[in-house]
Amino acid sequence: MTIIDTEPGGLADQVEGRVLRPGEDGFADAARPWNVAVEHHPDLLLVPRSPQDVVAGVRWAAERGLPVAVQSTGHGATEAITGGLLISTLGLDTVEVDAENRIARVGAGVRWAELLARTVPEGLIGLCGSSSDVGVVGYCLGGGLPILGRAFGFAAEQVRSIEIVTPDGRLRTVDGEHDADLFEVLKGGKGNFGVVTSIELDLIPLTDFYGGGIIYPGEDAAEVLTAFRAWAAGLPDGACPSVALLRLPDMEFAPPPLRGRFVVHVRFALPGDKAEGDRLLAPMRAVSTPIMDTAGPLSYLQVDLVNLDPPEPTPFEQAGVLLKEFGEDAQAALLEVAGPGVHSPLLLVELRLMGGALGRPSRVRDAVSGRDAAWCVSALGVPVPPIAELVPPAIEQVLDALRPWATGYTMVNFHGRPGDATDRARAWPPDAFEAISRAKRRYDPDNLMRFGHAVLLPSGEPVEPAIPL
Ligand SMILES: Cc1cc2nc3c(=O)[nH]c(=O)nc-3n(C[C@H](O)[C@H](O)[C@H](O)COP(=O)(O)OP(=O)(O)OC[C@H]3O[C@@H](n4cnc5c(N)ncnc54)[C@H](O)[C@@H]3O)c2cc1C
Repeated sequence: MTIIDTEPGGLADQVEGRVLRPGEDGFADAARPWNVAVEHHPDLLLVPRSPQDVVAGVRWAAERGLPVAVQSTGHGATEAITGGLLISTLGLDTVEVDAENRIARVGAGVRWAELLARTVPEGLIGLCGSSSDVGVVGYCLGGGLPILGRAFGFAAEQVRSIEIVTPDGRLRTVDGEHDADLFEVLKGGKGNFGVVTSIELDLIPLTDFYGGGIIYPGEDAAEVLTAFRAWAAGLPDGACPSVALLRLPDMEFAPPPLRGRFVVHVRFALPGDKAEGDRLLAPMRAVSTPIMDTAGPLSYLQVDLVNLDPPEPTPFEQAGVLLKEFGEDAQAALLEVAGPGVHSPLLLVELRLMGGALGRPSRVRDAVSGRDAAWCVSALGVPVPPIAELVPPAIEQVLDALRPWATGYTMVNFHGRPGDATDRARAWPPDAFEAISRAKRRYDPDNLMRFGHAVLLPSGEPVEPAIPL
């Protein structure tokens, strides 16, 4: 297809923002995702300055039958976007905070760190995940599993309204009363229904919390995991633990005592004070001989210190699964493929405890997955030479090992590559999937939004409801 963006009627004439063709100055930077293992090759890139620019972009693409993709930070880039119009939302960077009413309105290019820098001084937080470098909108559209999830629930539950340009080129504000069917499925249904330009979120009164982690030698993984399972099972609802098997490269981002080592990282977050945090964490502090213990009172601006995700753009390949349980047999199965003595190429295998407020039904209907799960597992590797080829099979091996305890579903934010029709449908439980498919037929009948976790394949073929694993 030939694209004539500078001709009368071309997109560049209609927008305030930038329109870039492959090879033009700025194209590569604007297209590059945080996950630098993925390289996008759209026909054209639009960096809008306003929702009206997005309207122009979507209409322009729809008139030409070109598919539309959206990228904010690129933390969720799982596979290349080839062809079509890529809309990079980073220019939609407004943040408005109404502290009195505890509400924030956030543009589609805003990262969590930018929002929190505005809300924490007002005594308020939004439900950020493990990295505040992630985009607020993309994260919430995928449900949003927060660091303090067991205390406050999924981030999507805090979304009050969503401004979106739907594939028909209309700018709509959707909420519980306006296009309520669309509002429901946008919270969890990811990029299926158009280009979100901003969202309005409820904020939570909090500034400080107790958080951090304890790092143990990897050789003690069995002892640490056994103690962790027993400890986690006895924690109150608001306490949020996770554990990761980490094989850290000999690179600067890892603190010196951890570089090039295999370690077990127990993470903990609690909306509580030092006394309560120390009391709850005490049993884990008595296990094995920790290499590091960083847990203590933190400002919520330091939320990244809980999981210690890489701060810089990183190449990664990741996939996840939800578990019904993680008992002794599951632990043994996991350690067989990722424990001490295994030459695993994976940087991380992580288990986050679900339940608590994550297990309660939402006040307003949504399409979030994971409410019935006990654990959210994620396996991640860095696909660079000489281990690039080894990473995908090693991820599969971990998922296979845990399959007997899987719920059969995943969370879209942790699913990884969308895969084929059967695989991608696993990102939602059947009722949510049904609602998403219905809304897709209504709001995107021509399958304009066909990249990523689309519930219509690029061929237009519908995805079937997930079958148990
Ligand atoms: C280091 C790291 C830590 C993470 N931690 C967590 C965590 O703790 N909890 C959690 O739930 N998730 C977590 N994630 C997953 C993350 O929330 C998702 O990948 C999310 O989609 C990222 O959103 P983004 O906008 O930053 O990324 P992008 O790659 O820019 O967007 C990802 C996808 O979201 C959709 N999207 C984004 N913006 C729009 C828009 N404006 N309109 C329509 N669709 C849009 C599109 O489908 C797009 O392909 C983490 C990811 C990484 C890499």
